[in-house]
Amino acid sequence: MDFQQVFGKPPKTEASAPGRVNLLGEHTDYNDGFVLPTAIPQWTTVQLGLSSDACGGLHLRQHHFYSENFNEQVSILDINHPPSGFASYIFGCIEVLKKAGYTIPSLCVYVKSSIPMGSGLSSSAALEVATLRAIRQLLNLPIDDVEIAQFGQQAEIHYAGVQCGIMDQMASSLADTEHILFLDTRTLERRLMPLPDKAEILVIHSGIPRSLASSGYNQRRAECEEAARSLGVKALRDITDVKVTEKLPEPLRRRARHVVTEDNRVLEVLQGVSSKRFGELMNASHASLRDDYEVSVPGLDTLVELLQKTSGVFGAKLTGAGFGGACVALVAAGEGRNIATHILEQYKQAGYNGQILVPSLGLSDAA
Ligand code: ADP
Ligand code: MG
Repeated sequence: MDFQQVFGKPPKTEASAPGRVNLLGEHTDYNDGFVLPTAIPQWTTVQLGLSSDACGGLHLRQHHFYSENFNEQVSILDINHPPSGFASYIFGCIEVLKKAGYTIPSLCVYVKSSIPMGSGLSSSAALEVATLRAIRQLLNLPIDDVEIAQFGQQAEIHYAGVQCGIMDQMASSLADTEHILFLDTRTLERRLMPLPDKAEILVIHSGIPRSLASSGYNQRRAECEEAARSLGVKALRDITDVKVTEKLPEPLRRRARHVVTEDNRVLEVLQGVSSKRFGELMNASHASLRDDYEVSVPGLDTLVELLQKTSGVFGAKLTGAGFGGACVALVAAGEGRNIATHILEQYKQAGYNGQILVPSLGLSDAA
């Protein structure tokens, strides 16, 4: 079903936003730290019309949302009863714009996406950014791309109930597939950097659902806040010398050590590093996420180890929050698909079922 079939009229406007993969800087954004995501070539597209134009028995004063991926339609009957599920992200975007003083009419919203959901590639932020871009376009709103990211984050926190940092929305709003985006999540200072030399990015799903992701994520967040309080700083980003974390009790010591070393790894990349060194930093990041932050699972570790010992792979790590989901590797340019096919066979022999999400993202891809 396309927009016209669902809502009885063609859309008035549409906008898109990409998913993202984070190369380095995992679990640092809610510690005011540094991240290095890049956009992936999968997108979410949002088409908009006015409810007052719609036919087909829809209520003209209500919002109506349709997701092609879910083949599901949700109508907002009462704005005092916020919806759950996918509609909460869209409704959240509309409500945060209203709270910021903009007048938003009742909308018909059609969503379609090629971003795998719930894999750590940030389909949620892409949905928010695409929705906000489409509304900005429809109503000519004077908001910039950073504000789009901030409104998206507010929508996700207050309406979808996910205590997320700003990375995903900033990446979806500001990154492209030809660069990596260095972002300081405290100051929002950012820089688009070239991908490491003669390398491309490969993303593989471990086949393991992120089952404990939200409870584990909230627990890690709380541990980091406690560690920062004990050390007398606003956020762990304020610690640069890892020795300072040694006075903390366990497990806060290991949690803080991950955040501090991870921030330092991102800052090293900012100085300019070879693909080989970038890969070593990714490997160190995975070890830290596995041992200190404890957000990996055996399947992800197996997949990452297989990648790390394959020739042509500079480095590999889990990506996103962990507890399942995807891993990312930096590989020799042109080798992504071959390496992925080879690795997935070995991964199968180990008893798992993985899937290629992004076969070869790099400069060759952009050309
Ligand atoms: P991720 O952002 O890593 O993909 P999340 O759990 O944060 O995982 O977000 C996934 C959720 O976002 C989905 O369960 C759904 O509610 C919403 N979502 C994202 N894209 C779409 C879409 N195209 N259609 C409907 N809902 C979507
Ligand atoms: Mg998300």
